[in-house]
Amino acid sequence: MTVWNLTYETYKPQEQGLREALCTLGNGYFATRGASAQVSADETHYPGTYLAGGYNRLKTEIAGREIENEDLVNMPNWLCLKFRFTDGQWFSPETATIRSYCQELDMKKGTLTHIVVFEDEQQRRIRMEEQRFIHMGDRHTAAMKVSLTSENHTGALEVESAIDGTVRNQGVKRYRDLNSRHFVVLESESVQDGPLYLKVQTVQSELRVAMAARTRITQKSKDLDLAPEVINDNGYVGKRYTVDINQKETLVVEKVVLVHTSRDFAITECGVAAKARIERAPGFDDILTSHTMAWKHLWRRSDIKMTDRRKKRPDYHPEMVIRLHIFHLLQTVSKKTINLDVGVPARGWHGEAYRGHIFWDELYIYPFITLQHPEITRSLLLYRYRRLDTARAAAKKAGFKGAMYPWQSASSGREETQIMHLNPESGRWIPDNSQLQKHVNAAIAFNIWKYFESTGDMQFMSAYGAEVLLEIARFWESIATYNKDLDRYEICGVMGPDEYHEAYPDADEPGLDNNAYTNVMATWVLTQALQVLEILPKDRIEELYETLHLTKSETDLWWDISRKMRIIFHDDNIISQFEHYDRLKELDWDKYREKYSNIQRMDRILEAEGDSPNNYKITKQADVLMLFYLFSAPELKTLFKQLGYPFEYETIPKNIDYYVHRTTYGSSLSWVVHSWVLARSDRKRSWKFFLKALQSDIDDIQGGTTQEGIHLGAMAGSVNILQEAYLGIKTRGNILWLNPELPEVLEKLEMQVQYRSSTLIFEATQEMCKITLLCSPENTFKFGFKEDLYDLTVGNTRTFHI
Ligand code: BGC
Repeated sequence: MTVWNLTYETYKPQEQGLREALCTLGNGYFATRGASAQVSADETHYPGTYLAGGYNRLKTEIAGREIENEDLVNMPNWLCLKFRFTDGQWFSPETATIRSYCQELDMKKGTLTHIVVFEDEQQRRIRMEEQRFIHMGDRHTAAMKVSLTSENHTGALEVESAIDGTVRNQGVKRYRDLNSRHFVVLESESVQDGPLYLKVQTVQSELRVAMAARTRITQKSKDLDLAPEVINDNGYVGKRYTVDINQKETLVVEKVVLVHTSRDFAITECGVAAKARIERAPGFDDILTSHTMAWKHLWRRSDIKMTDRRKKRPDYHPEMVIRLHIFHLLQTVSKKTINLDVGVPARGWHGEAYRGHIFWDELYIYPFITLQHPEITRSLLLYRYRRLDTARAAAKKAGFKGAMYPWQSASSGREETQIMHLNPESGRWIPDNSQLQKHVNAAIAFNIWKYFESTGDMQFMSAYGAEVLLEIARFWESIATYNKDLDRYEICGVMGPDEYHEAYPDADEPGLDNNAYTNVMATWVLTQALQVLEILPKDRIEELYETLHLTKSETDLWWDISRKMRIIFHDDNIISQFEHYDRLKELDWDKYREKYSNIQRMDRILEAEGDSPNNYKITKQADVLMLFYLFSAPELKTLFKQLGYPFEYETIPKNIDYYVHRTTYGSSLSWVVHSWVLARSDRKRSWKFFLKALQSDIDDIQGGTTQEGIHLGAMAGSVNILQEAYLGIKTRGNILWLNPELPEVLEKLEMQVQYRSSTLIFEATQEMCKITLLCSPENTFKFGFKEDLYDLTVGNTRTFHI
């Protein structure tokens, strides 16, 4: 293990799913799990390939109801590369004995290597060295190179290279009762002297995907002239080569694959495009060179250098894990994602959990992406803009005004949250009410505003962002009800981020009243909407008033609501997660900790026991504490003051303590938020939570779910802890602020950011902080350090003592 490599030196079948997810390669256009090229899906392995935004809908009858799910489709498997001695079994981790094993993800180069010595039942050994990548510079290309050395046998070796179009969606056990045949094969070809070719089409969304693969076999750098047996069997296309190999000799197999879809630009048709491009594709080594160069460029912008004082133990590697998190972030959303019309999937394009859907997790992802690659955020925000009409229709149908975005979104922007979900603890299908999380709308508005703040992109705000923000403000206006007795506005019948509370104990209907996070966020959106109407060019404001039929009395109402929204407190200034939260029972934590080895998913445990988390003061994840994550203390003070509520800084630690103690960490996002909110007041605990956030996927501590897809929100969130919490890099108004405070164990942190077309490097230690302006369109760059403003000119550095 180095700071750039994730290495596994033994083969562990029980960990394969996890390693496949963590070793997924991708480029923001498509991704392939890090499965062995010698296996197909079974209980141990799952070689999935997914297209960014490659969804399809299927209906299934479940518990007497017909339900429809939109899934991220597992596309044909291009990896397939098998080999055996002609009279033996195929060498694979399942059938052969593994004499030595090494799987390594090289994050610097973006490559995955498997080095395995297999032995068959006749003790014949083959050493396989495989390297693969998905090109970061050319979105359509992937390649692998496999060197096969016969260690102790002379004989005929068979090599089969294929594309497997017989695959289905089988990656998540809980979904296995659901229909899973998402595509049909339209065309398949395997001829002796041409590429392998397969074209499929998803059954409902009619997305066509073509793959063409060229296989080349060389020995001592010379192409072998072979006449392969061709296979074309119900969607499985392949070629089987037979080659005589002497003991100690090596055979090199190169497979280059081109992927095109019916959504691509600059093509006539995806099949024609894939075939044409495979003809002119360079060899493996050349493609690898341009691929590693693309990664070099990415890392130059995106790396975070972190040095800590801890004595390094083999199991302690935060620097590497941070790189792993950045790596997966950049593989999920990249320049190749721009214009694809896709959003940010909560679980990456790395598996089938949550069906590739887009939630509010963007909130955790944008701070880093925007200060590194603002052009990517812009494109991802347009995913929401294009779905504005669907969100308007959803609001109207529900009896509201404006735009109501779905809790889970995929292709069209309709609500994709399942209506039933399976509790694996009890085996029961139960109603899923999570679509009551209307706070996703506030997150979308927040993301738009933050992008604007970081980039100053008025053109985006004017043409797209403002309309979304205003329509979301309007939604909050219409969902808020006026309580005459209190002279306050309320939001009732919703859910906050904590998914363990969806209803009051014994209530017939789901929904909670006055969730503090939702109410504060709605207040913030309405305030910001009013500000947008001041900063846009005058003619655009007029246009928006006309197009959206906005009136002065409506914006007056926004002002009123944003001054009178209701927030509820209990126990001496604890912000109540929702109204009557204080009436819920305390959980007997000791009892449950004793009874169950893991109590993260208390919702499932309690449901299986015939009880419900609705009855208790427990939270799955940060809810009230999200406020301290998104806003600084002065910002919150301003918001509370605007609402006429007292807000003393001293109550922040009390609130943090109250909710941290009642959290089960059923969502990986909690570690991130808890680390963040403690960054200033308790640096030791903050670091502990940060390490937990780092462990989340690499050690699979989220209930063993990483194999179904990484937790992208937590990955990005952990990176953001370094950026926003420890380095204290924040955008506010028209200024980039810096206020570093490193945890005691950290010696140094260094990263580069892009802010309003300027490039800066920040470096902080326990004692000092340096800021260097690499380039800028202006001669002088103004920035904030702690409370004061400073100037910096290009090529210069300012140093501050902390
Ligand atoms: C969390 C949500 C999150 C979703 C997708 C759930 O477990 O409770 O907040 O958006 O996962 O990551």
